[in-house]
Amino acid sequence: MGGALFLAATMDLKIAVLPGDYIGPEVMAASLPVLEAALKRAGHTLSYSTHDVGGAGIDNHGKALPDSTLAACRAADAILFGSVGGPKWEKLPPAEQPERGSLLPLRKAFTLFANVRPGFMPAALSASSPLKAERIPNGIDMVCIRELTGGLYFGRPKSTTTLADGDIEAIDTMVYRKSEIERITDVAIATARARSKRILSVDKANVLECSVLWRKVVTERVKALAPDIEVTHMYVDNAAMQLTLNPAKIDVMLTENMFGDILSDEMAAVCGSLGMMSSASLGDVKNRYGKPFGLYEPAGGSAPDIAGQDKANPCAQILSAALMLRHSFGLNAEADAIEAAVRKTIADGIRTGDIAFGGPSVGTKAMGAAILARL
Ligand code: NAD
Repeated sequence: MGGALFLAATMDLKIAVLPGDYIGPEVMAASLPVLEAALKRAGHTLSYSTHDVGGAGIDNHGKALPDSTLAACRAADAILFGSVGGPKWEKLPPAEQPERGSLLPLRKAFTLFANVRPGFMPAALSASSPLKAERIPNGIDMVCIRELTGGLYFGRPKSTTTLADGDIEAIDTMVYRKSEIERITDVAIATARARSKRILSVDKANVLECSVLWRKVVTERVKALAPDIEVTHMYVDNAAMQLTLNPAKIDVMLTENMFGDILSDEMAAVCGSLGMMSSASLGDVKNRYGKPFGLYEPAGGSAPDIAGQDKANPCAQILSAALMLRHSFGLNAEADAIEAAVRKTIADGIRTGDIAFGGPSVGTKAMGAAILARL
């Protein structure tokens, strides 16, 4: 029956909403109606519960990731995260501070090994980029996929030793396993499939053993699982240059932990405003729909300088919700609709202060409402 078919095609998305601190709750409040409307149009439903995290977790429950918040995340299909931290908690020991005390345990609990960061700057915002407008006539639209749990940051041995001759030696170790490279390549393949079917893999295979393995495994994995996808390789020093010389040529950029740490920030800088930058961390854990469990959040912080003034740009949070639909639920059409509504709002000249360049601007709530109206 038609009714039964319709029901089978609909989904009930269950998400944990963690607004966090300062602008976190403001941009989250603007994003949820957009998310709900995008789902409702397609017949899906959203069930969510809201929980304290970061400074709010410390104030109300004594720690940045309260047990009740973690339990709610475990019961959900994905986490929509705001941002945490701020001056109120800066004097706490580092491990107890809002960002470290919440994001690190969440990464661990859900083995979040892949960081997906879109570099999104519509042509209408080319003035927000430090690059000359003629270099980016159509704006920037790329995705950086960074391996998050391996490489130089976590490899052992890691030590600082005073040697017999009195000199001091520090050691970090870069380690990658084939299996780690394969699973991050799979994320790049899934991302490239929904885009232009091109992957640019960045390494330093002329110097590093890990990069030689990286290049081999990426090549073999794509050949075996996705022969329709074109993979090219580039040394990291060249990639750093190409990001500023010709960012429009890059579509999906795949790289290891440290290179990705640096290149994704460079990408954010060429795209201009932090208020537009979304991100996702994807894990090994699968949700009820067999898709990666993920944590979705704006790339920026809690912006205490503008909090409570209805000034924050909600686009990063709204675009993070779109990323969630894409990666954790496979709802590409609904994600496309949200992204198109954000583009249209900006093209119509409706902007928060950070992307208005001295022109007229609206507040967080009005920006959210304008995006909702354009869905
Ligand atoms: P920030 O990203 O909060 O702010 C940097 C600048 O960008 C500020 O001028 C801010 O007003 C602006 N900005 C950021 N998001 C914006 C938005 N949506 N709209 C308009 N303008 C925006 O960085 P910060 O000031 O260095 O850090 C503030 C706090 O956030 C710190 O406690 C830091 O630890 C924390 N932080 C948290 C996360 C996270 O939750 N994942 C990430 C980074 C920083």
